[in-house]
Amino acid sequence: MAEDTKKKKKKAEKESAEPEEEVLFTSLRAGSWDEFHGQESVKHSLMIVIEAAMKRNESLEHVLLYGPPGLGKTTLSHIIAKEMKKNIRVTSGPALERAGDIASILTNLENGDILFIDEIHRLNKVVEETLYPAMEDYCLDIVIGKGPSARTVRLDLPHFTIVGATTRVGLISGPLRDRFGVVHRLQFYEPNDLTVIIEKAAEKLKVSVDKESVKEIAVRARGTPRIALKLLKRVRDFAQVKGQGKLVRDITARALTLLEVDSVGLDTLDTRYLRAIIDKHSGGPVGIETIASTISEDIGTLEDMTEPYLMQIGFLKRTPRGRMVTKRAYLHLGLKIPSDDQQRFL
Ligand code: ADP
Repeated sequence: MAEDTKKKKKKAEKESAEPEEEVLFTSLRAGSWDEFHGQESVKHSLMIVIEAAMKRNESLEHVLLYGPPGLGKTTLSHIIAKEMKKNIRVTSGPALERAGDIASILTNLENGDILFIDEIHRLNKVVEETLYPAMEDYCLDIVIGKGPSARTVRLDLPHFTIVGATTRVGLISGPLRDRFGVVHRLQFYEPNDLTVIIEKAAEKLKVSVDKESVKEIAVRARGTPRIALKLLKRVRDFAQVKGQGKLVRDITARALTLLEVDSVGLDTLDTRYLRAIIDKHSGGPVGIETIASTISEDIGTLEDMTEPYLMQIGFLKRTPRGRMVTKRAYLHLGLKIPSDDQQRFL
């Protein structure tokens, strides 16, 4: 297999949850506003546009949701459809290979239906250009025939809504982005919000979990509900095998240590990433390509999954000359800042 294809496959595997986990997330998926905790401003403004569209009896404007994986973009799209009392069709950028793929989906929608396109930054040019008139004027231009006798037929479409989700908003072209009337960035969650999410999930899973365990999982979940749910499940497994099935402080702490998730949620990839910059590049600044090849990781994985959280907790800075590890990260890793460099990290 070509190196490039191998890397893409590895990345796709990392991005999508394992099938077993997907079932877990689907079963724990927040199905209504009451079950969706945190992201108050996004929630509030979506509630308003939904109510306004319902009052006018119109379809909702196209919605673009962006932010790191696992923060609730897919969940929100389902809640939007439910609130609008419409059907939802789910697809993703890489799954739409030809203009015909998107055309057949669009022509089968009904007025007001939601089309959720995950990883919308990975749409190819032809599909994207087919979407422009569809999103703006609810029509499709179809070319019939070939050569000089080819002609274009305009097909009317139902008034649908696209909810696009992406982890890489910078990769979305200007014309596509401009066609979304509602654009929201999802933020990492505060531990308090994650606490509620973990407690509700534990209730659904019928797992007994004490307050300290919930807190411990929340602070180590990198501000991400998907990670919080995954940790909860792993700790539950550990408690069933090594304890009495109950998540109590001692069991939870042992399970999390075994999972190699540290006190602020860093996993082995985060640590390898930081150590590569520190050990091999004197703390930076260094380009992402260099870091990626130093630790043999995919650039996209580092940009999507590793860097946003490290920046959020102040362990990493992006400068015009490259990535730099901060003093705070040195201290967390128990490393001494090289004395001649003290100034640089302050
Ligand atoms: P994304 O599409 O951004 O990658 P998902 O919507 O698939 O994230 O969310 C992953 C899991 O986390 C789902 O099981 C979902 O129900 C849960 N989740 C995400 N956000 C919230 C939230 N705000 N409240 C409750 N559960 C949430």
